[in-house]
Amino acid sequence: MMKKSTQESTKLHNSQLVLRTIYRQGEISRVDIARQTGLTRTTVSDVVGRFLHEGLVVETGVSPSRGGKRAILLRVDDEARHLVGIDLANSAFRGAVVNLRGKIVQRVSLPIQERDGEAALGLVFTLIDQLLQLTDRPILGIGIGTPGLMDPVNRVVRYAVNLDWYNLPLGALLEERYRKPIYIANDSQAAALAEFTFGRQADANNLVVIKAGRGVGAGIVLNGELFYGDSHSAGEIGHVRMVPGGERCRCGNTGCLETLVSTRTLRRRAREIAARQPESYLNRLAASPEEIDSEVILQAYQAGDPFVEELVAETGDYLGKAAAQMAGALNIDQIILAGRLARFGDGIIAPMQKRVRQDILPALAEHTRVRPSLFGDDVVILGAASLILRHEAGLI
Ligand SMILES: [Zn+2]
Repeated sequence: MMKKSTQESTKLHNSQLVLRTIYRQGEISRVDIARQTGLTRTTVSDVVGRFLHEGLVVETGVSPSRGGKRAILLRVDDEARHLVGIDLANSAFRGAVVNLRGKIVQRVSLPIQERDGEAALGLVFTLIDQLLQLTDRPILGIGIGTPGLMDPVNRVVRYAVNLDWYNLPLGALLEERYRKPIYIANDSQAAALAEFTFGRQADANNLVVIKAGRGVGAGIVLNGELFYGDSHSAGEIGHVRMVPGGERCRCGNTGCLETLVSTRTLRRRAREIAARQPESYLNRLAASPEEIDSEVILQAYQAGDPFVEELVAETGDYLGKAAAQMAGALNIDQIILAGRLARFGDGIIAPMQKRVRQDILPALAEHTRVRPSLFGDDVVILGAASLILRHEAGLI
């Protein structure tokens, strides 16, 4: 006879398998679930009965007749449970209530007032408190994407300099307060999981997301799983030296990728352009150099300013060098640019793609595609939410 724990785990496995099958198929009959999963019809009926009772699955009508008996179709009620996804970005803390398909139902954004660790933690609590007020559905869990170095296993933020957090046991603190499953990932890793969960082609098992904004990092999905590396910091490409004897970086080294392509660098270089080229659009859009920010640079780019176009293309070329290293080492075909710099669209993607094509083996380059993220500013929120879908619901 099976031990109770083994029975329980078989039951959980079967439940997740049935739910995942319904979720992936969209609509499916009990008979087809049994056929696809290899479970008996009795087991499928039992599991489905439980899901119907819990409201997680609903019956949606009958399948068209195929000669035999017509079957009732089942689908997952996408609003039956909600997820909370949080992006502890540098400029503001943003969060959303997300449904089971990754649709954002409600959102809250709170500006960061103080750069003090204690205050930052208080703000995370306020953000989650507000989000939980915005839904009456059961919450499956809370996912957090945050810049810095993480230990996702112990759910500790090891080092987030902008938030003044050092070895902060964020997972334990949130679990104590909310009594819900808590998952934490680095923001670039969360972005990779968002693209994998909600944006990939069905047959793609690997992808790289390069997230470039204030900082630069990458998230890597290998064989359908986030790759964390030996100390959970896989994808920290922002602080790999690209230029010997280059500029001083905030990490203490010189010539890091981040000194070449962050929004901060872009701003500084745009200000230099404005000073050097009186006819640049930048001077029409901003009354003083201090007013030249990411938004102004984007507007000048969209207005067709050739100096800004060149700056953006050069940034894309640097990002392409980093992407080529990853594509060459890992043989991953799908490379995605996320973060603020992705807003330049083809102006940054095309030079990235060109550089990748030139820098790796032609036979590999042929298959390598660079594209912008599908999710804009929501990519980290959706990635944080998909940590819950994956680990709590077993849906992906
Ligand atoms: Zn650095």
